[in-house]
Amino acid sequence: MELFWHRRDLRVADNVGLAVAADRDTVAPIFVFDPDVLAHASDVRVRRLLDGLTALRDAYRDRGSDLLVAHGEPASVLPAVAAGLDAERVVWNRDYSGLARERDAAVRRVLDEVGIAREAHQDRVLHTPDAIRTNAGDPYSVYSYYWKKWRDRGKDAPVRTPEAVDLVDASVLVDSTARLESTGSDETAGHVEVDVGDLPTPDSLGFAEPDAAVGPAGTEAARERLDAFLEDDVFRYGDDRDYPARRVTSRLSTFLKYGEIGIREVYAATEEAMTAAADRPDEDAEGSVEEFQAQLAWGEFYTQVLFHNPEVVTENYKTYEAGIDWRDDPEEITAWKRGETGYPIVDAGMRQLREEAYVHNRVRMIVASFLTKDLLADWRHGYDHFRETLADHETGNDNGGWQWAASTGTDAQPYFRIFNPMTQGERYDPDAEYIAEYVPELRGVDPAVVHGWHECSPTQRANAAPDYPDPIVDHAVRREEALTMYKRARGEDPDE
Ligand SMILES: Cc1cc2nc3c(=O)[nH]c(=O)nc-3n(C[C@H](O)[C@H](O)[C@H](O)COP(=O)(O)OP(=O)(O)OC[C@H]3O[C@@H](n4cnc5c(N)ncnc54)[C@H](O)[C@@H]3O)c2cc1C
Repeated sequence: MELFWHRRDLRVADNVGLAVAADRDTVAPIFVFDPDVLAHASDVRVRRLLDGLTALRDAYRDRGSDLLVAHGEPASVLPAVAAGLDAERVVWNRDYSGLARERDAAVRRVLDEVGIAREAHQDRVLHTPDAIRTNAGDPYSVYSYYWKKWRDRGKDAPVRTPEAVDLVDASVLVDSTARLESTGSDETAGHVEVDVGDLPTPDSLGFAEPDAAVGPAGTEAARERLDAFLEDDVFRYGDDRDYPARRVTSRLSTFLKYGEIGIREVYAATEEAMTAAADRPDEDAEGSVEEFQAQLAWGEFYTQVLFHNPEVVTENYKTYEAGIDWRDDPEEITAWKRGETGYPIVDAGMRQLREEAYVHNRVRMIVASFLTKDLLADWRHGYDHFRETLADHETGNDNGGWQWAASTGTDAQPYFRIFNPMTQGERYDPDAEYIAEYVPELRGVDPAVVHGWHECSPTQRANAAPDYPDPIVDHAVRREEALTMYKRARGEDPDE
């Protein structure tokens, strides 16, 4: 028997490590609640993780098996469980963040010490962080060149889904874990308790139920979402993806974050859509499908940026000589978090975040630009808030998005290109539909007034939407201040 350790791959289908283990022997699956990971978690993500684990456990139960659940340092828990179950080998899929790599190194070390075989597989991405390099052999820092190579490389097909015959019977698991408890004094592990399919509550892990609705979890829900997206929206994605009210994006990010659907399966489905695109009436339907694939590549681009530069989690990717002198006004940052800045598209985005633990991509760019270039607040405040509140928080993508908006990242928005939040709203939500959905104070207000809110007189505002706040800053003034701030940090003359 082999022990398969689930981490950010909460699925049975298209799971490389699991399929390889199942090809060799029967498999017992395990999830370990790691205190180091929980220390970085949030209410939203714990709720979402538990929902994903419930779906995973059910998928195993449907196959006559079950999910083992343990708590503790994986480097202590896994050797004890593997020894207790007489497992031949511990198998898992690689994860590329700094914390995950440190944890995996510790697990490898202890398993080697106690003489238990182990094996890690490449599953999470289509192309590993080391696979795509410049002709000089360096990692890419410019996306467009990375994308061309990513697009042109062959991709692996989905792998097979293990069935009941490949898995350890649930009743055997129950017996084995009883035996394991009695060997819990193992010197490599101390006392290890393993439950069979018994998942904790957020409360028992020290977290609260989130206010936001985190959405459905699991492979079935992910597949339904993917199928619905590929039926029609993908063919309009190229033209419509920047318009939040049109809702054409896939909303797969949270499923991908928890690994509830395999990336090979998603990519193979987009290739089928590419074939179907040839017969579609939509203009440039194939280009639209490719545009979607290009977003998947952005995720892998940021994964490799993080892999090769783990310090970007807390440091600017671009090191400005004197550092940027952020203003960091606590009241302004709080108004931004609450969605009460008096800039409608910004407030709509921040309220979508509060309600759904999700924000549309264009709006993420707008709210991030507003925080850094209108409020002159350090991008780390925004990143920390997103990390706390987004269900799809993914270190590489979140950090990449923030450093892009703050102009401190790799291949970032140039510092002098500062989004105007009014014209962004007007362009991408012309009828103020998205705004009306999340900002009830502005429902029924003429879109021209909504997009011109900063220019309205106090009387006009009081008449149109008495409960909606006045703009907390003047964009034109802050734009100039932002330019000065960046030029100083770069050692340039602010007056030029
Ligand atoms: C400030 C900021 C923070 C962000 N934080 C995150 C985050 O924590 N997690 C996250 O997955 N994405 C993040 N993004 C990227 C992007 O906003 C989301 O991936 C996207 O909105 C998710 O919605 P979707 O699944 O409908 O995307 P779709 O448009 O359907 O795209 C499909 C998939 O491609 C990937 N993708 C799309 N856009 C990007 C992008 N710009 N960068 C990297 N990957 C992308 C995601 O996996 C996404 O699910 C952030 C962007 C910004 C500007």
